[in-house]
Amino acid sequence: MNAVQGGLFDLSGKIAIVTGASRGIGEALAKGLAAQGATVVVNYNSAADRAEAVVSAIEAAGGKSKAIKADVSVEADADRLIAETVSAFGRVDILVNNAGIVLPAAAEDCSLETWRRTMALNLDGVFLVSRAAGRQMIAQKSGSIISIGSMSGRIVNWPFRHAAYNVSKAGVHMLTKALATEWAEHNIRVNAIAPGYIRTELTDEVLKEHPDVVRDHWEKGAVQNRIGNVTELVGAVVYLASNAASFTTGEIITIDGGLTLR
Ligand code: NAP
Repeated sequence: MNAVQGGLFDLSGKIAIVTGASRGIGEALAKGLAAQGATVVVNYNSAADRAEAVVSAIEAAGGKSKAIKADVSVEADADRLIAETVSAFGRVDILVNNAGIVLPAAAEDCSLETWRRTMALNLDGVFLVSRAAGRQMIAQKSGSIISIGSMSGRIVNWPFRHAAYNVSKAGVHMLTKALATEWAEHNIRVNAIAPGYIRTELTDEVLKEHPDVVRDHWEKGAVQNRIGNVTELVGAVVYLASNAASFTTGEIITIDGGLTLR
């Protein structure tokens, strides 16, 4: 572990949950929080082996971790995720709402099922786990919630069409502000990050099938002329989780290599 005990970003003794942490951005965030000393619950829905591999990697680095299966779009699962975390570790200090999906569909062809599946995970899931964690944090009189929104909650990114995804992420951004306002009196901070294009298994599929779009839109669209890596999101989440961000709430930090600048 590379945490400096008592340092500005130290998370020693904190209990964190990262949803959808069996791969991609969630995996990187789980490892990043653990590297600053947090005990991390690695939530997953289907990939038990991969979640256990993330737990093993955290433990091998000297950290503490546990995998918990829960479909965050299901109310009872969301409640159980928090209850099992409290039963294992006594409290919840940090919640990272990361689990999410993109189901591309032109608006005129988007089925109600596609729309609802997107909202169920990307928006209902964030609300359900935040509500369950918020109840615990209100009782504790402290907590930090960080949701993974998207630049797609700020702009209609192009040329792929996924109105449902864009709307779900815009919802995450507004939910962040609403919860920050409602729960400030309980010493709970609620923030989000809005990543641009980040290389994960999710985006690798697009890279394979549409390399021209990735080059011409994703890379050239960013003033830094590239897509990002999962590790480039860790610092902002550690900051928002830590006491360094004690006066930061209701904020959406865009991390997109400057894509939304022009
Ligand atoms: P990913 O590689 O597809 O990983 C998604 C994760 O979510 C997996 O660990 C998956 O676990 C989990 N998950 C899926 N359904 C779940 C459910 N019902 N309950 C709990 N966990 C569930 O995605 P990613 O690229 O890392 O993206 C992570 C987040 O960042 C998403 O919210 C995404 O919208 C957002 N984001 C991504 C990008 C990007 O360019 N990659 C940009 C902006 C925002 P199982 O496999 O175990 O089910």
